[in-house]
Amino acid sequence: MPVNFTIAVFEGDGIGPEIMAPTLHLLETLQQQTTDYSLSFDTCPAGADWYAHTGESLPESSMHRARDADAILLAAMGLPDVRYPDGTEISPQIELRRQLNLFAGVRPVRVAPGPRTPLKLEGNQAIDFVLIRESTEGLFYSQGRGEVTADCAEETLRITRQTSAKLFRFAFELAEQRHRSGQGSGTITCVDKANVFRAFAFFRKLFDEEAQHHKSITGNHAYVDATALWMVQKPWIFDVLVTENMFGDILSDLGAGLMGGLGLAPSADIGEHHAVFQPCHGSAPDIAGLGIANPFAMILSAAMMLDWLGSHNHLPVMVRHSQQLRDAVYQVAVNDAQTPRDLGGSNSTIATAGYVEQALAEFA
Ligand code: NAD
Repeated sequence: MPVNFTIAVFEGDGIGPEIMAPTLHLLETLQQQTTDYSLSFDTCPAGADWYAHTGESLPESSMHRARDADAILLAAMGLPDVRYPDGTEISPQIELRRQLNLFAGVRPVRVAPGPRTPLKLEGNQAIDFVLIRESTEGLFYSQGRGEVTADCAEETLRITRQTSAKLFRFAFELAEQRHRSGQGSGTITCVDKANVFRAFAFFRKLFDEEAQHHKSITGNHAYVDATALWMVQKPWIFDVLVTENMFGDILSDLGAGLMGGLGLAPSADIGEHHAVFQPCHGSAPDIAGLGIANPFAMILSAAMMLDWLGSHNHLPVMVRHSQQLRDAVYQVAVNDAQTPRDLGGSNSTIATAGYVEQALAEFA
């Protein structure tokens, strides 16, 4: 009997449904090749459009179904013109992170020689690092709590021992796993601003405490401004980076830029009991409905989900399917005749996903 996993699916807003449909089709194709696992998709309503029609951005029933699912696959949520009365945007994806305590935002940055990148890579020089963004506190803790008067606005950053300890343990374990598999150099860098803020000196101290338990890994510190510089000048020096929420938010877009754009940037938000997999980009309302959205980041996020489920449930075939899906995307991404518009090609979302399906068939 296959192990069945229920996946809560949030198609969300804008291009969300357009990139989710071909991604689910690819997952269906993969699961048909095995009797080891199966996936059941449970589509859950939420988002800005849902809020505009019902007054609810994340219905309680959707939250329950997400909580009960084995994993959550999310496209993108939010529309700039749909806002709460306080002027902030509808963002159930942030609410999910909070309610499910998804403290580790995992953002792989991978540039093999070939694909579009603004950097000039020499020979076989390749970039392969993972940025881990704390996702439940930091400056984002202040969301909805800021004080604004006619003359002054204040938001407060929060770093706790409990969350930081879990975050650093997760980051060190990932560095160990990458080192064991030959993917990483066994190095982890704590990115902060400990030279100016006491909260970041505390963050750094907690990182150093965790480092004591991982002697096979080299723990470094770097200031966030220098890190931004080095991510452009010499990104191949990095293996695992771990940082606060707001810094991670900004650096992960820089990471996406290194890969040639948001269209190739996947992510996972991971907690102790739940995980959400979603592209780094938003709902792209400027191109919604045109059928030209790049599905790569969504498909790569689904690949991360297969890897996470397969690793946690000791299902090697699922981990292999994850690898095949990732390889298929990268194979298509370097072929100008098969890429979508944002990567310089002229292909529709459906055509691009079709090329990924063809590439996948070669690996089966
Ligand atoms: P965005 O990422 O949606 O779009 C930025 C630019 O990148 C746009 O020009 C868009 O067309 C392009 N783009 C993004 N994804 C693309 C794709 N897959 N293929 C081709 N082009 C793509 O960012 P934004 O415009 O700042 O935000 C739009 C909405 O999305 C806002 O309401 C924002 O709050 C929301 N948002 C949601 C998430 C999320 O759900 N995780 C993340 C970021 C932004």
